[in-house]
Amino acid sequence: MIFYKTADEIELIRESCLLVCKALTHVASIIRPGITGEEIDKAAEELIRDHNAKPGFKGYRGFPATLCISPNEGVVHGIPTKKEFQNGDVVSVDCGSYLNGFYGDSAFTFALGEVDEATMELLRVTNTSLYLGIENAIEGRRIGDIGFAVQDYCENQHPYGIVRELVGHGIGRELHESPEVPNYGKRGKGAKLKEGLVIAIEPMVNLGTKDVQQSNDGWTIITKDKKPSAHFEHTVAVKKDKADILSNHKLIEEAILKNPNVNSVGVKNTLTQAS
Ligand code: MG
Ligand code: MG
Repeated sequence: MIFYKTADEIELIRESCLLVCKALTHVASIIRPGITGEEIDKAAEELIRDHNAKPGFKGYRGFPATLCISPNEGVVHGIPTKKEFQNGDVVSVDCGSYLNGFYGDSAFTFALGEVDEATMELLRVTNTSLYLGIENAIEGRRIGDIGFAVQDYCENQHPYGIVRELVGHGIGRELHESPEVPNYGKRGKGAKLKEGLVIAIEPMVNLGTKDVQQSNDGWTIITKDKKPSAHFEHTVAVKKDKADILSNHKLIEEAILKNPNVNSVGVKNTLTQAS
């Protein structure tokens, strides 16, 4: 069952998403080679709790942390560890919060130090594909239009592999609601989008093949060929003419520009987020 949100509920989800992005912005300001996943996880949890919210992922199906931290071949669902990040790592950081009865969800992939150009291009293309998907989150289009836009850009216009096993989702009073929002699909297929639908769109794109596997920790999804993967996520509300992006990556991008240890991941064309 799909739950359509009122304007007031959408504002509450926005507040939760903005808190997530505040936590990710703090991550953007401190992440560097030499820091550990556990350290940034602790910082994000403190920030969320200081705002009278709860981490959205901690305890969800037994997940033990505030952030999902998935470096390099890690796609998503990585558990923060004591291992220091290295120069050249690309680190997906996914964050959720629960505030005033509603979840927020957003993710960003950080490029630390000297990252090879092929991997930087993967990050730029994945980030751009997120906005191409969002352009289709308008009333009257279908779920398949979002997936098609992401897939066409990443797999037809670029040589990457879109993860099939993990998808975006509706979000609201629950972290994962209907409908599923795949990053692949056919134009004109799937559920029709209506104003009030709030969804997390989150392309997971691999430099090599689309195939993934679960690592030994029982959580982290990694690429089968061990090549890097990228992940960017926004929570958006479907509107009549233009999707309303409830999360905000601008703050994260500004923090990256001030952090000499992190490379900027620009969007590849004129698509940008309205502030
Ligand atoms: Mg997420
Ligand atoms: Mg999500």
